[in-house]
Amino acid sequence: MHTLLLLGLIVAVAGSASAELYEGDKVLRLTAENDLHLQFLRNVSHTGKAELWHPHSIDLVTTEKAMDFRVAADWVSDIQAELEKIGLKYEILTENLQILIENQFDRIRTRSFSYDYSSYHNWDQIESWTATIAKENPNLISRLVIGQSYEGRNIYLLQVGKRTGSPKPAIFMDCGTHAREWISPAFCQWFVKEAVRTYGTRSPLNSIVNEMDFLVIPVVNVDGYVYSWTEDRLWRKTRSKNFNSDCVGTDPNRNFNAEWCTSGSSRNPCSSIYCGPYAESEKEVKAVADFIRNHSSVIKAYLTIHSYAQKCLFPYSYTYSLAFNDNELANLAQNAVQALKSLYGTEYTFGSGSSSMYLASGGSDDWAYDLGIKYSFTFELRDTGKYGFLLPETQIRPTCEETMLAINYIATYVLNHLY
Ligand SMILES: [Zn+2]
Repeated sequence: MHTLLLLGLIVAVAGSASAELYEGDKVLRLTAENDLHLQFLRNVSHTGKAELWHPHSIDLVTTEKAMDFRVAADWVSDIQAELEKIGLKYEILTENLQILIENQFDRIRTRSFSYDYSSYHNWDQIESWTATIAKENPNLISRLVIGQSYEGRNIYLLQVGKRTGSPKPAIFMDCGTHAREWISPAFCQWFVKEAVRTYGTRSPLNSIVNEMDFLVIPVVNVDGYVYSWTEDRLWRKTRSKNFNSDCVGTDPNRNFNAEWCTSGSSRNPCSSIYCGPYAESEKEVKAVADFIRNHSSVIKAYLTIHSYAQKCLFPYSYTYSLAFNDNELANLAQNAVQALKSLYGTEYTFGSGSSSMYLASGGSDDWAYDLGIKYSFTFELRDTGKYGFLLPETQIRPTCEETMLAINYIATYVLNHLY
């Protein structure tokens, strides 16, 4: 009774925050066709009237490639008029961002409270879930604390694999690097639940967990995740304070030591892609990097789960140069996205990060790859922009089910190609 009451209160508080920040903001999709268009988009980005919805360096934006911009409410009519004047056609993806956000919190507030893998969960719930699932499955799961966040929260890692008494090869998978990408932690939880559900059965996942361990971090950027529930649903970065700036946080996926802070990242602390004062400055990034370094002899694959874009990416993102096993990675990605598509027909594209997404330095997948982990992938889950970071809960189950097929495919391949 008391627990339920308390949970209800926490959710009510979480739901009531995030107030009005995005009232009237729209998301527009457009494709620049000439230099005038590009110049206009750069100008509005630099003035803060609009920003790339999927943040990257505006200076790297080119023509002939569709881009989504979040346009601040105050500037919507000006910008629409301007776009029409210069002949830049656009499509409105989201009419009012605040309404999408509030709908999501409304559903969360009103639902019942059994642990439901088809729902989004706040940090308190996820934290106690990690304890419970480890305690209930001692032969399969153990929980480790690999470090603390900037604000002092534990960063948990679940080791998922049958206990054999000897070291096993492992696949490392992290979720929740970017705070607002809620489908990502939902997937890590789903994955662990599936490992439990299929344990001891004749399933592909069970064969894998008999031979290998999965090292799963359900939420890397814990502080950011909490903030996305309580203050700003669309927060992306960590919550560390910056020297000489009122702007908070670093982009954890620009903070790894992979050509740190060169292309596709920013030295401005107010930017969504701020690389931080130095590589691994963020405690969360340092904790992940230290853990991987200390276990690099057993980690055979690195998977990092993000949203949104429906892409399976592999190194490199910091350069257009190809990875040494580019062919193998491309084949693997192609088969993984085919497996994913087989369930609900969801189309994913694949390729190196720089060619398929955008140039970006300091990413965890490139860093892990350069450390010697030759199977390194970033998944950008659903969707392609209709809801973006605000993917409805009704899509959690199908998204997780189809993604399991891709992860199983990669894991089976890695198990058959140990090195
Ligand atoms: Zn992300």
